[in-house]
Amino acid sequence: MLKKLIILIYIVICLIQLSFAEIVNIGIYHNSKITSFIFHPEEGNYSVFTEQGKLLDLDKSELLELKYINNRVHIKSLDKDYGSFKKVRFLGTSYKNAFKVKITGSKNIKIYEDNLFVNLHGYYNYFQLINNIEIDNYVAGVVESEVGRSPPPEYFKLQAIICRTYALKNIKRHQSEGFSLCDKVHCQAYNRKPKSVLIKEAANKTNGIVIVDSDINLIVATFYSNCGGETAKSEEVWRQSLYYLRTVKDTFCLHENNAVWSKKIPKSKWTNYLISHGFPKENLKPECGLEYFQNCREQFFNDQNVQIQFTKIRTDFRLKSAQFNVIPNGEFVTLEGKGFGHGVGLCQEGAMRMAKLGHSYIDILHFYYKNVHMIDLEYLDFFKAEF
Ligand SMILES: [Zn+2]
Ligand SMILES: [Zn+2]
Repeated sequence: MLKKLIILIYIVICLIQLSFAEIVNIGIYHNSKITSFIFHPEEGNYSVFTEQGKLLDLDKSELLELKYINNRVHIKSLDKDYGSFKKVRFLGTSYKNAFKVKITGSKNIKIYEDNLFVNLHGYYNYFQLINNIEIDNYVAGVVESEVGRSPPPEYFKLQAIICRTYALKNIKRHQSEGFSLCDKVHCQAYNRKPKSVLIKEAANKTNGIVIVDSDINLIVATFYSNCGGETAKSEEVWRQSLYYLRTVKDTFCLHENNAVWSKKIPKSKWTNYLISHGFPKENLKPECGLEYFQNCREQFFNDQNVQIQFTKIRTDFRLKSAQFNVIPNGEFVTLEGKGFGHGVGLCQEGAMRMAKLGHSYIDILHFYYKNVHMIDLEYLDFFKAEF
């Protein structure tokens, strides 16, 4: 009897953990100083709660205006003033729920799924809006915001898995501000409820799947636009060496949009840059540093016994990638580069090409992230509960 009771308690604990893991709090309109907006149910019905309890029920025919007045949320409808409160919760009560937000003074209306929490950002005198949302709904919104609607459906699945893994790996990033992740590229771009049915399907079909390493820890699922034919090791760009972020020779992206780039820089600017980074000013022959070839991805521009990290040159000259040759060109040098982005992890244009050629999302993820595992979040919770 006692054993059965312990098992029952354990199952309940697992279910509670699982249900918590499936909901995320996203800070929407992050850093926008919102003091007034309209809330309007788009799908399903909503109940409105304040610190004093339930205030009212809302359906699609109704809308509410919320205003920041004297450090309170002032709520009114078209025909009724409901008063002022410290916090407001819009909770969806139907199977599917979505709502519109229209910021006062903006023509733009955004639709979000699930719930909305409205807090006061007292110090700065504006609202903090938090979308309390089921993780797969959030993931679908991120996929559309990050990659648009044009990639093939199989690609949406792997991008959904990456975005879900990233979200859970970084779930405490804004904990001190009272939510999990913001809606900007600082975390992951999340603009609104996705319009694409295919993206929604991709998030649902990969429901709960995340990528873990050999220790069952969520991986750092980095991605970028195009690797230029070869991905970078994590330690070449960041300090951390991660066994699954290794060099991969990638021929899939070579003819895609961001495969090559070039940039012309005045010769004097380039030479002065090299001198300021240790190139010998005296005895520097005119041709030194003006011609350089990277046959494969190199970490350092290595000439005249001086090393400059390619990633630093990329940042300093705002280049698309750290993989380029230097070609003398009269009073200029031309940097002829490959790829777009940091080059660590999944190459999006290569992965899209693989998806078009019929590779499965699992094969594509294994191609870019070495020796990782795709597991259901349910088992991740199980492992964490066990150990
Ligand atoms: Zn953020
Ligand atoms: Zn590539």
